[in-house]
Amino acid sequence: MSDQQGMMPAAGAEATYFGFLRSGIWNIQQCQTCNRWIFYPREYCPHCQSPELRWRAPTGLGTVYSMSRVFARDGKGPLVLLVDLDEGVRIMGGAAEDNNEGLTIGARVSARLDNSGEESRILFVPMRGAQHEA
Ligand SMILES: [Zn+2]
Repeated sequence: MSDQQGMMPAAGAEATYFGFLRSGIWNIQQCQTCNRWIFYPREYCPHCQSPELRWRAPTGLGTVYSMSRVFARDGKGPLVLLVDLDEGVRIMGGAAEDNNEGLTIGARVSARLDNSGEESRILFVPMRGAQHEA
């Protein structure tokens, strides 16, 4: 195995994942053998080693596990969240700058795909009691 991390283009499942994101689709993998959801993208299920993985859209609903602010020189940096999706996987994402009131550890959030920048990213917004369906 060669050690060329960082310079290699994404391959396999990872490339598929980012390809979906760039076309506006947020899919993660679900194992067809044991039905567990998988993230980060892989070639084989980490639970049962099955290669039978399919791409599906998660609900995007989850609970904030941790949050931290990445401090920039001006003292204002983006919030980075780790969120436990209802599907049972933990993913990293950002917070929507215009809608992060009430965002705390343990808060219920919903995800949206943000393709406004150079890189696709997942943003989480707090769910509110009376929020109506999009
Ligand atoms: Zn499996």
